[in-house]
Amino acid sequence: MGPKREIAMKKTTQMAGVLEEGRQCGVGDFVLMDSIDLNSFMKNLQIRFEANKIYTYIGEVIVSVNPYKTLDIFNKQYIDSYKGREIFERPPHLFAIADAAHKTMKRKFKDTCIVISGESGAGKTEASKIIMKYLASVTNVSGQKEVERVKNILLQSNCILESFGNAKTNRNDNSSRFGKYMDINFDFKGDPIGGHIENYLLEKSRVVHQQPGERNFHSFYQLLLGGEDRRLSEYGLSRDLKSYAYLNQRGDTEGGLASDKTDYKLVNDAVEIIGFGQAIDTMWKIVSAILHLGNLEFLAENDDAKIKDKKILKNIASLLNVDSTEAEKALCSRVVAAKGERVEKGHTVEQAAYGRDAFAKAIYDRLFTWIVANVNNAIHLKTTGSSKNTIIGVLDIYGFELFDNNSFEQFCINYCNEKLQQLFIELVLKQEQEEYTREGIEWQHIDYFNNKIICDLVEAPHKGIFAVLDEACITVGKVTDQMFLDALSDKLKNHNHFETRKNKSNDKTLEFGKEFRVVHYAGNVTYCVNGFIDKNKDLLFQDFKRLLHNSSNQIIKSMWPEGAKSVDAVTKRPTTAGTSFKNSMIELVKNLASKEPFYVRCIKPNEDKSPVKFDRERCEHQVKYLGLLENVRVRRAGFAIRMPYDRFLKRYKIISASTWPTFRKGSDQDGTRLIIRENNFESDVKYGKTKIFIRSPKTMFALEQKREDN
Ligand code: ATP
Ligand code: MG
Repeated sequence: MGPKREIAMKKTTQMAGVLEEGRQCGVGDFVLMDSIDLNSFMKNLQIRFEANKIYTYIGEVIVSVNPYKTLDIFNKQYIDSYKGREIFERPPHLFAIADAAHKTMKRKFKDTCIVISGESGAGKTEASKIIMKYLASVTNVSGQKEVERVKNILLQSNCILESFGNAKTNRNDNSSRFGKYMDINFDFKGDPIGGHIENYLLEKSRVVHQQPGERNFHSFYQLLLGGEDRRLSEYGLSRDLKSYAYLNQRGDTEGGLASDKTDYKLVNDAVEIIGFGQAIDTMWKIVSAILHLGNLEFLAENDDAKIKDKKILKNIASLLNVDSTEAEKALCSRVVAAKGERVEKGHTVEQAAYGRDAFAKAIYDRLFTWIVANVNNAIHLKTTGSSKNTIIGVLDIYGFELFDNNSFEQFCINYCNEKLQQLFIELVLKQEQEEYTREGIEWQHIDYFNNKIICDLVEAPHKGIFAVLDEACITVGKVTDQMFLDALSDKLKNHNHFETRKNKSNDKTLEFGKEFRVVHYAGNVTYCVNGFIDKNKDLLFQDFKRLLHNSSNQIIKSMWPEGAKSVDAVTKRPTTAGTSFKNSMIELVKNLASKEPFYVRCIKPNEDKSPVKFDRERCEHQVKYLGLLENVRVRRAGFAIRMPYDRFLKRYKIISASTWPTFRKGSDQDGTRLIIRENNFESDVKYGKTKIFIRSPKTMFALEQKREDN
């Protein structure tokens, strides 16, 4: 088929491309709007949402609005229609971004990453699955077995991680309560040959406590509602959700979800497929042990805590394959080293209950990390000698959180979002600037609010919030959360983004001695300091570690290597939770910055999960804090469109008799210049070293039109 006929055939599909689509239901790229202001932006977003056009570009950034309904735009036909096409040829779609990341990686032999951001319920996890589905569908045309296996594991891992790491919250029925960054390794043909998942800070406090209207992690309900009768009776469980304290704190148990039962089966199948099927029993035993732990109560006997119901204790010990007497000791007392002697010190009832909850949280957290490690084992890249591989990284991490009560977890999550916003600013600006410099083109700088100051407020050595918190945690003697707040108030009293009642005595919205406020880029968040020190120390009595290290279940034992240490062994002070989170974020940002980024900016259209409601105020807030308008301006300030000369010539040579069918009188750049000159577009373009830069989208329109007319 000759190129002319091929183009004629493509014409119908191009009619639906970014440019054409714009005329009917808003514009497919915000850069193409007639005027760039918030009102026009919001109008375009709303028109498109209402017309079921959930995706819109800002250049190579895609804005996605959660449709809250199933759209028929993810099927095989759609996938095929995006495969190998240029971004502007087809209507905006995540497939196009996934394809661009894949194509860029292959063309430039450079690592790329897709950063998905947005608040809880905005559609990040769904977007990451759509991207994975696309990458899996368009690769491995030759059907290699190993590539098939890796792809399968990458897809299957989702349901296990969601079972153990997601929960129903008031904002999202399937909210990810951990951060996830996945590297996919590709060979020189662009086929996936390995991968690695990095998980960040699981919200383990959920294991023992949930806000009204929220649930514990899905896994608990899946086991209780979907588990086989045999398994449940063996583990001493009933199906009555109300009978478990960890699922029912106020007598207002959240019920099962329609999917719990079927998901249980899917999780088991996925574990089998990925290849750690021999561990399924242990995984569910740990979940069961936690349910029983929640029901374990203590009585005071001469001030010492005693277990009320020994039957529950026996159950727990048998599920974890540990000695029941040892388990009782670990729950009711602790061994301390004093003057070279080991002394057993009884807990009060309060201490015992605290220890029990810390134990439950720690076992669950370890289980989750262990699961991720096992998925990683199965897809670990086998080094293939000299052949280099490239990576696409996909980041799906918790969005900005603002609750009625915000604690240490929200503080960490919001800090993470500050870091990602900082990266976005850096990369979007850097990338544009660098490209102009590289291509020898002048451009005008656009101002952004730079949130670096807030990142510093949190992470700076010595006087950042994490540093002050660590200081409070290592101070000998009893340091209270309030003392920590005092220290913060002193150290940060002059910071524009930090407020406490002590420093702002007139601000009645802040509770004295209890709260501090951070003026985040996405809005103000008031944090309650209660529990900060505890959560940062993240201590678990060595007795528990030793107990599980001595488990006769080898899988459980392997999760607790540090239990081997004896109580009087001098141990290094462990890294605090805050510092270790901070370090992992710095590492993550460094990693992302080394890759060529593609951005998915997710927007939640309303709070009611409605497919028809566009809550203008809520959307506007998100558009503002995601910096989308500035993004459009940066993109427009320079040149809306840029294209390598060879691609330009290939696409538009049909317009000119001098370049059709083949241009032989010079370089690709010469051919490009000729077409531009003949069509009088010279004043609107600049010639870079390898690319043509076109200022106005209208020129692009005109070129496309001429191409279609030919
Ligand atoms: P969190 O930060 O809480 O994990 P999230 O941004 O990952 O939130 P998702 O879980 O991806 O949000 O989406 C929330 C819900 O919105 C989904 O369970 C689904 O019901 C709906 N949804 C999101 N994206 C789509 C889509 N493309 N098509 C249909 N429904 C969607
Ligand atoms: Mg999610």
